[in-house]
Amino acid sequence: MSLLEIKHVNKIYKSEDGGEKYALKDVTIIFPSSGLIAICGKSGSGKSTLINMIALLDKPDSGNILFNNKELTSYKDKENLNYRNKEIGIIFQHYQLLLDEDVLFNVSLPMMIAGYSKKEGQKDASMMLEGINFNQELYKQRTYDLSGGEQQRVAILRSLINSPKIILADEPTGAIDSTNSRIIMQMLKKASRKKLVILVSHNEELVEEFADRIIYLQDGEIVKNKIRVEENNGRPVSKPPIIKKHYYWISHLAISNFIKRIKRNVISMVSLTLCLVSSLLIIGFSYGSEESIINESYKQVDYGVASISKETSTRISDSGMTLKHLFKPNQEEKKQIIDDLPYFHIMDNYDALVPMALSIKSEGKTIDNIYYQPVYSFSEKTLNYGLLKDGFIPSKDSLQEVLINQKAYEVIKKTGIDPFKAILTITSSYTYNYYPEDDYLHPVITDYFIYEKNAKITGVFQEFDFLNTPKVYYSYVALDDYLNNSLLNNLSSYLEEDYSWGDIVSSSEVNDPISSYSLKLFLKDDKDKTNLRSYVEVLKEPFAITSNSLMIDEALISLVSAANYGLGFFLAIAFIGTALILGIVSFSSFVEDRKKIAILKCLGAKRSDIVSIYMMENIFISLISVTLSLILSYPLSLLINFIVRNTLGFTNLISIPFSSFLNVPFLLPFILVVASLLLSIISTSLPIIFSKKISLKEELKDE
Ligand code: ADP
Ligand code: MG
Repeated sequence: MSLLEIKHVNKIYKSEDGGEKYALKDVTIIFPSSGLIAICGKSGSGKSTLINMIALLDKPDSGNILFNNKELTSYKDKENLNYRNKEIGIIFQHYQLLLDEDVLFNVSLPMMIAGYSKKEGQKDASMMLEGINFNQELYKQRTYDLSGGEQQRVAILRSLINSPKIILADEPTGAIDSTNSRIIMQMLKKASRKKLVILVSHNEELVEEFADRIIYLQDGEIVKNKIRVEENNGRPVSKPPIIKKHYYWISHLAISNFIKRIKRNVISMVSLTLCLVSSLLIIGFSYGSEESIINESYKQVDYGVASISKETSTRISDSGMTLKHLFKPNQEEKKQIIDDLPYFHIMDNYDALVPMALSIKSEGKTIDNIYYQPVYSFSEKTLNYGLLKDGFIPSKDSLQEVLINQKAYEVIKKTGIDPFKAILTITSSYTYNYYPEDDYLHPVITDYFIYEKNAKITGVFQEFDFLNTPKVYYSYVALDDYLNNSLLNNLSSYLEEDYSWGDIVSSSEVNDPISSYSLKLFLKDDKDKTNLRSYVEVLKEPFAITSNSLMIDEALISLVSAANYGLGFFLAIAFIGTALILGIVSFSSFVEDRKKIAILKCLGAKRSDIVSIYMMENIFISLISVTLSLILSYPLSLLINFIVRNTLGFTNLISIPFSSFLNVPFLLPFILVVASLLLSIISTSLPIIFSKKISLKEELKDE
């Protein structure tokens, strides 16, 4: 049994004129197991085709190539890799080294691909380099910086390091000078004592000097087969088996690729980091915004003030519209409401007599756009004392003392008046007509309500600014007391019984304008404001509560949820864009490295190991980006929150749930890591999977 046999091998190519051309025609060679066999012939005679077939870079159209009596074409993937890695060593005319890696790495690479450790590989590589007196200073040098002769010597040692049985060398001296050519030939000659060296060469002189057998090819056919020395069939020694597999070379190449393409990788990292940071901020926004808005909205002194009406609606025929009528709840209904809503003080609504928008003057100047707004009383229970920024809250309820909010403070200040020294003159009026029962056109009695109060400002509240208006807060208890004590003089003397303005409002018909068509509600306990929403929900038709604060909350929340949709959409696009960038970057690296990949494959590296190199590069990008985005997003959210607080007044609008998300501790960083790893794995594999298989023969062809 011989080591290598070539039997009746044919290889046919289409020639340019459309006919068929034999690159190899019925070639049969039985090789010895050691010795230097030279293959000679003119250019185009089929020498490379023959070598490529033995190197598994090409396949015969017919005939067999047997290695240890087994047909090469029948090899499965695993046998294929083993054959390339351990049984043969290839030396190319143009060396095909990894030019960015150093000498030791290049020489030891086939050993490391086989699974040996870095240490074992470097030990053997050093020994071999010493054996040929290779300059020690160059061991750690990039092979790119070596001379052609040095590169070829490194390539030969690389082909020898796994003790292969066959060395294939296609014109190894074609690109170097004659002195170096002789050194190379001596190395090959030495190797051929224990293994089969198949050498393609043009150089008749060298071949004559060194070869043990010379095979001449002409137009794909063997024309001469000259055996010059007796041939040997002894078996070479193999490398010892590997105990534990090592993968150092994969991470080494990944890191070296990462550094080599650092500019491009920085771009990927920046885009991934941007994408992740914006995701975190958006998640933080949708997580924190609602709470932030509600919390902020509580910072209104009149948050718990509302009104309640009875609502009936009539459909306007044919128009599709409905007309809503509001009525003041009657006495019986009022009792029911008091039972249903025990958390509120329920009062008559005096808006008709003392409206929110009335005339406020000071020092003869009219102050516009400032509202006269009730709070239940100045007591600590109903008023949020925490919001007081300046001044004090009166200890007794009276209409002579009022409180204002910051906006009102600014408005007053703008008119040139010092709010704390000012006396506000608040006036409104109302005309009340009393009709006899049978005549609704001619009143018998008319009373005039003149409200005129001079009030001192004692304090300023710092409120939620957004959508807020300038307000002067007065005590409703004091107003109630005042109205119940001021009489309608004309009516009282006409009916010979005392009637106060309070009586008139409370006894008014449900559809009388003086009733304001509603009752007023004041939350009894200011701390209860967090429950306002749920209290209001208890209420059933036909009663409806109107609360300015809840309306503003709702408007803001729907604004935020609309923003969330928009941001979610943006996020999806950002992720697609980032995946594309990563994919394109890793694909272009892959394409750029076609030659490197071909070399690794030729040395017996698995496809999955090669993909790992590119995936690892993207995993570095992902992990660095995730780390950066976790580090950056927090201070960024603080910065945005700071800006938002100073411009819109919301505190903690963005609150990124780092430590607990959906009640799972550290879920968010975990999701981030997983998502970006997935993103990098998918974006690396897809282009590689869909890219054309690399043709090793084409990539490694010696131009
Ligand atoms: P050598 O190495 O002896 O110069 P080759 O083995 O490279 O010759 O080529 C042998 C013949 O096969 C040549 O005529 C060449 O043109 C042809 N040939 C080699 N590869 C291809 C190919 N991929 N397509 C077409 N013809 C090819
Ligand atoms: Mg050739």
